[in-house]
Amino acid sequence: MKMEQKIKALIIGAFLSILGLCAIQYYLIRNTYELEKRNFTNQLKEELSDVEEIEALKNTLSENLSVEEHIFLNQTDYKKRVHQKIDSLNRSKVVTQLNDFLQKKFHYNIRFGIQADSLEYFRKNTSQENYFAIKDISLIGKKPKKGDYISLYNWTSESAHNDSNDDAPPLRKLDREKSEEIYWSQKIDAFVFVEIESWKNIVLKKMTGIFLLAFSLILAVILVSYFTINNLIRQKKIADIRTDFANNVTHELKTPLAALSVAVQSLKNKKIQSNEEVRKDIISLIDRQNIRLQKITDKILESSFSDDVILKKEKIEAFPFLEKTLEEFKLSQEGKTNIEWNISIENSSDIFLEIDPTYFANIITNLLDNAVKYSEGTPRIRVKSLVDSNDFILEISDKGIGIPQTEQQQIFDKFYRVKKGNRHDVKGLGLGLYQAKTMMEKHGGSLEVSSKIGEGSRFILKLPKHV
Ligand code: ATP
Ligand code: MG
Repeated sequence: MKMEQKIKALIIGAFLSILGLCAIQYYLIRNTYELEKRNFTNQLKEELSDVEEIEALKNTLSENLSVEEHIFLNQTDYKKRVHQKIDSLNRSKVVTQLNDFLQKKFHYNIRFGIQADSLEYFRKNTSQENYFAIKDISLIGKKPKKGDYISLYNWTSESAHNDSNDDAPPLRKLDREKSEEIYWSQKIDAFVFVEIESWKNIVLKKMTGIFLLAFSLILAVILVSYFTINNLIRQKKIADIRTDFANNVTHELKTPLAALSVAVQSLKNKKIQSNEEVRKDIISLIDRQNIRLQKITDKILESSFSDDVILKKEKIEAFPFLEKTLEEFKLSQEGKTNIEWNISIENSSDIFLEIDPTYFANIITNLLDNAVKYSEGTPRIRVKSLVDSNDFILEISDKGIGIPQTEQQQIFDKFYRVKKGNRHDVKGLGLGLYQAKTMMEKHGGSLEVSSKIGEGSRFILKLPKHV
């Protein structure tokens, strides 16, 4: 498997494992939550199972609801009566006292309630007319919202009465005349509950430890995966750079070596040996190629030691120095490329820089060299100098191929070369900008780039003025 595929597989694997871990954690936490919830409600139920006040309230309720005038004319009548009773009981001290008692006992915002599914009243031995029922009615407290309460237990209460009994409340005349034996019953079908404000949060709070543990575990796995993958990617990058560099060096060396080989072969030729003119040409070619090889090896060597270079700084007048450097570059390009120059350097004589002239000239040459290399057709180069209150600023711009936004920082890395969009035939070691930046920083200055693909690049050198 190739390295890239390995990394991809690793990323997918890590992602799936983390996903799986999250799912398992979710499942465990959910189960724990359900368990905690059950524990909480069970404990509450137990603690409330023998509270006398609740028993007393229930008794009062069923007594109050067992109507003494137990023959009603109609359903409306019955409802009105029941509601009156409930209202007065809810407003009574008994209920507030019970709520206060609970609040003190549990320290939560707790409220007691009884909610009836149905309340029925009926008489035996009579027609259907005397069967009345109310469905879904709050007997104590308000009807709780779904999920906001804990149901303690169901409560059914039945009271029956035989009217023939002497103690019975007076029956209505009509019935007495008929002198029937009349039985009536009252049936309450309800559940007793407590409402605790955000009680689920109370349960969740108890699980803080588990949450923290689960969270740290997931975080640890994510971090470990991240660092492993990151490390692998970095290693791959280094490996790539190494291969690229080897290719680039070979590429750079091939041309001068080939030229030298041809030159040596030619010198062996008797005819050429006797021709003084040609011999001189060939020797100067050998000389040039030799210098070229020297430059390449110097560049590689320098890049290895650029961090340790000790600058020999001198106080140098900025503009003559700049002009000289540009002139030298122009000379070096003569006969090679035709360049369109646009030079605007402020020619005030009192700007001095504290620089090592060799290294500083190298920086400028590297940038100019790039401007030529990475232009298509005739390179158009603009060199502009500015002076502000603290700094001397030099801008070198070209109308070349430009640098992708995403790579504008990486181009300053050692050996880095933009691959895509760049011309394949342009040779280089990826050292020029690395050296330029390192050296600028050693001079106490900075090197920045702004570039747009297809439009060109601008490199900005900033250096403190010498005062
Ligand atoms: P060398 O070490 O010979 O200078 P190089 O030119 O490839 O090799 P750098 O000068 O460090 O290396 O440049 C790094 C990369 O930045 C180049 O390969 C090129 O892709 C990009 N680059 C630099 N200058 C420019 C420019 N003016 N326009 C477009 N791309 C540029
Ligand atoms: Mg370069």
